[in-house]
Amino acid sequence: MIPLKSDEDLQRLSKSGKILSRVMASLKEVILPGVLTSEIDALAQRLIVEEGAKPAFKGYKGFPAAVCTSINEEIVHGIPGKRALCEGDIIGIDLGVNYLGYFTDAAVTLGVGLVDPSLLKLVEVTKEALVEGIKKAVAGNRLSDISHRIQDFVEGNGFSVVRQFVGHGIGLSLHEEPEIPNFGVAHQGPILEKGMVLAIEPMVNAGSWEAEILPNGWTAVTKDRSPSAHFEHTIAITEDGPQILTN
Ligand code: MG
Repeated sequence: MIPLKSDEDLQRLSKSGKILSRVMASLKEVILPGVLTSEIDALAQRLIVEEGAKPAFKGYKGFPAAVCTSINEEIVHGIPGKRALCEGDIIGIDLGVNYLGYFTDAAVTLGVGLVDPSLLKLVEVTKEALVEGIKKAVAGNRLSDISHRIQDFVEGNGFSVVRQFVGHGIGLSLHEEPEIPNFGVAHQGPILEKGMVLAIEPMVNAGSWEAEILPNGWTAVTKDRSPSAHFEHTIAITEDGPQILTN
């Protein structure tokens, strides 16, 4: 069963999402050559706590940080550390906030300094794929209408969608039902209803869709080491269409 949220739940989730988007805006400002990924993480932790919330990822299944920082061929779940950002990198920042037990999740991919136009296109297509997917998050549609639209848009632009990781329901915990693949045929799965809250998150590779996990047990990379981009928003399905909670 996909849990439905009350109007009161949605108000609290909206506060959680606002905190997340303020923190994300501050993180974006420090994405510069020479910055360590551990510094991005430390800033995220401090700002989340200052907002009266908790980092949702820290300690989740043992994850050691408040943000995931995934650079170039890293798809998701990069662990912040002593790596410095380099001019021309792209970095995905994935951030989860727990505000009084209400969870939101969002990700962006940003260029570091001057970035090759082909990489910028990958980033832009991934960002637009999220927008296109969100447009299908409408009561009465079926879940895979979101998945299909993302795949169609990404492949139409010559890129591939990751199969191994998917979006998810969210709200009173970080991961709830349903799973939301970024691929599949349309008009399948549960009918979308008002009160559903979903984290939609296309992960898009410049080369093959295949992924593998690094020996640290967390970081997913493209098997062919081609670059990858990731965008995510937490959205609520309302009577007036999809409401993005994390912007
Ligand atoms: Mg997520």
